[in-house]
Amino acid sequence: MENEKLIENQEQYLILEALREAGIQLTSSLEQEPVLDAILTQTLNLVKAGDAHIFLYNDGKLTFGSARWADARKSEPFSEPREEGITYSVARGGKRIVSSNVNENPLFQKWQWGGAIVSLPLKIGEQVVGVMNVAYEQPHEFSPEELRVLELLAVQAAIALQNASLYEEVSTDRRRLRLLYEVTNALVSEYDSSVILQKAIDLTTTALKASSGEAFLLDRLTGELRLAAQSPKRELSVDDRGELIKRHLAEGLEGWVASHRVPVWIPNVNHDPRWLNIDDFRTNVSSALCVPIQAGEDLLGVISILSEDYLNEDQLDLLNAISKQVALALSNALKFHRVERGLAELSALQQVGRVVNSRLEMQSLLDEVVEQVRQVLGYEIVEIYLVEGEMLQLKAAKGSEDGLAHEMHWSEGIIGRVTRTNQAAYIPDVSKDPDYVVGYPDSKSEIVVPLSKGDIVIGVLNVESPELGGLGESDLQLLILLADQVLVAVENATLYNRLQKHSSQLERLVEERTSELAEALEQARVAERLKTQFVADVSHELRTPLANIRLYLELLNFGNPERSGEYLETLLRENDRLAILIEDLLAISSLDTGTAMPNLKAEDLNTLVHRLVMDRKRMLAEKSLKLNLEMGDQLPNVMVDEGMITQVIASLMTNAMHYTRAGGTISINTKIQSWEDEEWVTLTVADTGIGIPPEEQERVFERFYRGKASRMLPVPGTGLGLAISKEIVDRHHGHISLQSKVDQGSEFTVWLPLHHEKTS
Ligand code: ADP
Repeated sequence: MENEKLIENQEQYLILEALREAGIQLTSSLEQEPVLDAILTQTLNLVKAGDAHIFLYNDGKLTFGSARWADARKSEPFSEPREEGITYSVARGGKRIVSSNVNENPLFQKWQWGGAIVSLPLKIGEQVVGVMNVAYEQPHEFSPEELRVLELLAVQAAIALQNASLYEEVSTDRRRLRLLYEVTNALVSEYDSSVILQKAIDLTTTALKASSGEAFLLDRLTGELRLAAQSPKRELSVDDRGELIKRHLAEGLEGWVASHRVPVWIPNVNHDPRWLNIDDFRTNVSSALCVPIQAGEDLLGVISILSEDYLNEDQLDLLNAISKQVALALSNALKFHRVERGLAELSALQQVGRVVNSRLEMQSLLDEVVEQVRQVLGYEIVEIYLVEGEMLQLKAAKGSEDGLAHEMHWSEGIIGRVTRTNQAAYIPDVSKDPDYVVGYPDSKSEIVVPLSKGDIVIGVLNVESPELGGLGESDLQLLILLADQVLVAVENATLYNRLQKHSSQLERLVEERTSELAEALEQARVAERLKTQFVADVSHELRTPLANIRLYLELLNFGNPERSGEYLETLLRENDRLAILIEDLLAISSLDTGTAMPNLKAEDLNTLVHRLVMDRKRMLAEKSLKLNLEMGDQLPNVMVDEGMITQVIASLMTNAMHYTRAGGTISINTKIQSWEDEEWVTLTVADTGIGIPPEEQERVFERFYRGKASRMLPVPGTGLGLAISKEIVDRHHGHISLQSKVDQGSEFTVWLPLHHEKTS
């Protein structure tokens, strides 16, 4: 009894030890396989059975979990569970079945192997998650203890299965999160779309244990999918391979996904018509995933993950999640580029603005503008053409200096078209534009913007790129903005040029004026000299009559008393001469000081003339001069200062008499004449005298000027008569004209206004 107790205790101990061991395994590992293996090992130890199997039960299906024979672990079951067999019965019924001799059990009718078996459901609550079978090669009676131990182990196994599946779930989620996290992390600071796609598919391909990954971007311009990244790296570059597979993409899986915009999982590519073996790299693929990369409604591209093994649907979900991250990264990159571009644009506009404000000389301005546009915005070729007549002249260029004709006719090329139509041209592919004239052989796309003010095109801004579609709509908008700036710049420069011309004109004018001034100064000096001369003349003129007067007074006193009459006559003449001179001097000085203001009264000119003629009748007769008078009929009165005008007429008559030889004729006439739309009363004194040479005609009105005639004839005088007359007539708002021919005579005409409102 003691012994039995001992043995029982020992067994109990072994059982507990086995259960503890299984428990330790259960807690030490979360992986399903080692735990199941540990349970099966303990089972075989405790119940001394031949083999033990665990099958997993899910969705009405049994799948192999783990198996162990007394001597070794097996990776395959002894046999697959039969539909009508014991394992399915237990799985479906949820109740243990014990068969001490299978040959007697109807479940083994068709397959009698002569042993014993117990089949235990592995349950969590009421749900069967698996079945554990423990079998003997010979019939075996199961003791209640054995069954109790097996039940306990079955509970352990169920827990292990549950833990493992929970763990599996958690760890799948974790792996998934990890991958997403890695993808997000890898992409977060990337702004290059190729790098983003490369990183994303590298990570995904590795994480999904797929054989290859490919990412494609949608080319908006052509609507085609373009290979942008491939993993692993191939011998063919992305570009070369992309070019080769491009035309297949529209029909293939990627094309389908791009047009339907839904993720696709192809478990077996051989059974799916969308799958195309488009190149060697795809020959061994057996399963594929393909998802669209979408930012909102915008399709950016697609990602394909391909495997030589089986890919499952869960992986599609993961890939889809990754593609969302990729889309985010791509649109961020795009935004970044836009911002970057926006900044560059702003700075270009600002720079150009700065240039506009700082450069005024046309050529350096245009050079600076193209340099800025090229540098800041990174265009390959930038040119400015300006219209000159019917030609477009290349005025400034960067990047194309060697390649382009330097002038074009209006009718030529895209540039000519833009000039004619005043419409900007955006040409993504120059080879498709019929107007394109090859200037720069590498050019693939071009934008030409007119520099125009309203309807007037003064030139064009031309930008070219060596890439197809290298220039976009946003470039067009920017260049239109820039064109406005350039136009302002050009206008400013033109204005500046004009100003410069104007200022040089001004300079010339200043020079002219300066020389005029110098001339005037010279004249003033001459006048000054004349004045000095005059003072000398006057002193001489004064001295001569004074000396004569003194001489004849002496003669009167001490000379021949018989000749005293003659002496007296000379004395009187000299006295007269002196008086005239003094009068002239007084007249000119009062005109100068402004004390001689004309006292205007309505006078009849004919009367004044008559009076003077009467006074001079004797003198005329003495000189044998004929007088011819033609007084205008009904001549209206003129507003004049009688004394002053009398002085003028007297002066003219005296001159005429002085400068006409004996036998000549002096004619005087008065009349009304029109000149410059006005009516004038004129008085003309004409003679048939020696005349005035043309070079003297201007000068005879200058003060102190005495002409050749005065020396030829010798005529006494001061050279003041005509100057005084001119100034008097000026003060009457009139003028004196002169016509004269040497040896034929002179004709002085005084023009007095018939109507004038004001006198000064
Ligand atoms: P003056 O007769 O005292 O020299 P004027 O001022 O009267 O001064 O005349 C200036 C000059 O004009 C004269 O010196 C003379 O050379 C010329 N002149 C004036 N009147 C006549 C005239 N009728 N015929 C020819 N020369 C004249």
